[in-house]
Amino acid sequence: MKKKPSDLALLRKEAEKKLREQTERVEELSGQDFKRLVHELGTHQIELEMQNEELRQAREELEALHRKYSDLFDFAPVGYFLLDRHSLVKEVNLTGAEMLGLPKRFLLDRPLSRCLFEKDRNTFYAHLKETEEKRYRQTCEVRVGKKEGPLLHFQLQSIVMEGRKGADILFRTTMIDITERTRSEEQLRESEGKYRELVQSARSVILKTDIQGTITFFNEFAEEFFGYPSAEVAGRKVVGTIIPPLSPSAQAFQGMLAGIALHPEYYQKTEGEGMRKSGERVWIAWTNRPVRDRDGRITGLLFVGQDITERKGIEDAMKHQAHHDALTGLPNKILFKEYLVNALHQAQRYGYMLAVMFLDLDRFKSVNDSLGHAMGDILLRAASDRLRASVRESDAVARIGGDEYTILLPHISHAEDAVKIAWKILDHFTSPFLLDGNELYCGVSIGISLFPDNGEQAESLLKNADIALYHVKEHGRGKYEFYNADMNIRTLERMILENNLRRTLERGELVVHYQPQVSIDTHQVLCAEALVRWEHPELGLLNPFQFLPLAEETGFIIPMDEWVLRTACAQSKAWQEAGYEPLCLTANVSARQFQLPSLVGLVEQVLEETGLSPEWLELEVTEGAAMQNIDVTIANMTRLNAMGIRFSIDDFGTGYSSLSYLKRLPIHKVKIDKSFVHGLLTDSNDESIVEAVIAMAHKMRFQVVAEGVETEEQWELLRSYGCDAVQGYCAGMPLPAPAFEKALFGTPA
Ligand code: C2E
Ligand code: MG
Ligand code: MG
Repeated sequence: MKKKPSDLALLRKEAEKKLREQTERVEELSGQDFKRLVHELGTHQIELEMQNEELRQAREELEALHRKYSDLFDFAPVGYFLLDRHSLVKEVNLTGAEMLGLPKRFLLDRPLSRCLFEKDRNTFYAHLKETEEKRYRQTCEVRVGKKEGPLLHFQLQSIVMEGRKGADILFRTTMIDITERTRSEEQLRESEGKYRELVQSARSVILKTDIQGTITFFNEFAEEFFGYPSAEVAGRKVVGTIIPPLSPSAQAFQGMLAGIALHPEYYQKTEGEGMRKSGERVWIAWTNRPVRDRDGRITGLLFVGQDITERKGIEDAMKHQAHHDALTGLPNKILFKEYLVNALHQAQRYGYMLAVMFLDLDRFKSVNDSLGHAMGDILLRAASDRLRASVRESDAVARIGGDEYTILLPHISHAEDAVKIAWKILDHFTSPFLLDGNELYCGVSIGISLFPDNGEQAESLLKNADIALYHVKEHGRGKYEFYNADMNIRTLERMILENNLRRTLERGELVVHYQPQVSIDTHQVLCAEALVRWEHPELGLLNPFQFLPLAEETGFIIPMDEWVLRTACAQSKAWQEAGYEPLCLTANVSARQFQLPSLVGLVEQVLEETGLSPEWLELEVTEGAAMQNIDVTIANMTRLNAMGIRFSIDDFGTGYSSLSYLKRLPIHKVKIDKSFVHGLLTDSNDESIVEAVIAMAHKMRFQVVAEGVETEEQWELLRSYGCDAVQGYCAGMPLPAPAFEKALFGTPA
């Protein structure tokens, strides 16, 4: 068994003691027992040597242990210092020396403070002082390095070594490198600072709430925008503070809070109404993001908002524009339909009855045509006011186009309620409108349909009210009628006709027939009138009286006349080019067309396009058309006449104009209306009118043509009165171009 070093020292002491005792005894015994003594001494010597060997072994073990310990000490992951109270380094491990970048021997017996960054030395002293005073482990952070260049950061932990107080005080100080951690902390701080600055200086509203919608953060812009300091809103609910309570936006917000956990993506972008502290309403486009904790649970919401009040205002204005009639400010057809659909939902749900009225101003077109669009507009506005004044606030009045209005009575008890309103409206339209100082009477016609009797859908109710209106217009205007199923068939036909009429041009269903005017004496063809026909795919060939009133009413007459004019001019030119004798063609110009300042330009353009010389064109205008707006008439006629175009007055005798009045116009001939010609042989009145007209017209140097001459007798009588020419079945039927060509020119040129 090995002996411990302490045992060895004891053994040695014992051996030395024995040696001393024996020496003393040797001196006492004086040699007699010398031999025995020497023997004993030898034995002790051996024992001593043995003990020395054990001692050596023990030392070696001790040294090995020491090496292990100092390795552990030197290579420990922390720096280790023993300092005296003046911070002189008494011991340092290799790690500590390396941390400071100095060899161990440079550090020993020198103050540790010297190695530290100048500005941190006081911190270090204070740290030691505190450690000494408080007697338990203290921590501080210091930096090491030069002024320029990067500094290393260390954390020191010191403790006073027990039992060594006063002058002998020793600090055991460990040191760990925290440079990396400090840098990343600094970076984090820096980026957090930047982020905060960004959030605060952003020109967007940025705010955070918890999951209950309580505000937890409010940036500077939000303060400025909403007019609240952030301290005032912190802890308050979003709804009621910056979102108006009980508003659709408030509802949407509550919905979002409820749904965001399940569908965050659904709520990413929203637009809603906001409220400033002053109560002023604003609009905000929000981008929302849930805020989550480490476990991914949603703990709140981050909102970034842009002020879109202005855009919303423009959008609203546009929406208003899209839903309202610009002239009268009334809802338009789109909005009216929305109202109607909503009202129908309510009516269906609660069992109400409702009424739809379709209205049309009587004679509006003639006001517009004769007095001009500006006056027409004034009339429309005035009519709107009267309509609005006739119904309750909760009833809707809309202008759905031209002179057509609709009214919705969303809740009535029986049909009589609608009758009362209809009478009220009719009554309001009995007094004249004052337009620019002129009194003008304009009545109104009303068609009414009822829910649920006349339809369950918005479309069918509107259509049936329209049919009822058509019915009123066909039977005398200025009254109201309820829809009934019998109206349907005839009126619907008419509506279909109207719809199809508009499409005749694109479908190529219009044709021109030509009818000659012949000299009453020589039977020579003087010119031919272009007369429009509609080749209806189902109804066959339609004459103007079957569709002209509709064309006039709908305005289709304008493109139609333009087409006839172009076709006739092109035909005349084509015959000339085919080598026939040039023939003058006459075209009818409607009253509407005749009032358009663009008429001259149109005729010029058509002549240029077709290459026809103006001398081969004559325009027929009725008296009424010529008299409607005499200034425009004179201007148009004078310019066209200067180009070489002639004019005739059509249907003469049916209008109110006097011959002397016509004298002021550049007119070439008058055409006596066929109604007088038909009465020639039976009605003495007609006879004298025709005779007088011919005489007076001649006095004014107009040529006279009699229309509708069907018999030889008529012909002869007219000749006896001095009539110049005739147009009628007797002289030639209206014929399509190829037949007319054959009849007139016979064989090809
Ligand atoms: P209008 O200009 O007075 O044309 C003469 C009308 O009398 C034509 O009727 C013609 O077919 C008809 N007629 C000719 N001879 C006789 C006859 O012997 N007996 C009878 N009873 N009638 C005869 P249409 O073609 O039906 O045209 C009717 C009216 O329609 C025309 O009257 C004219 O005012 C208008 N119209 C025809 N084509 C056009 C057009 O292209 N543009 C415009 N704006 N109006 C047109
Ligand atoms: Mg005519
Ligand atoms: Mg005529």
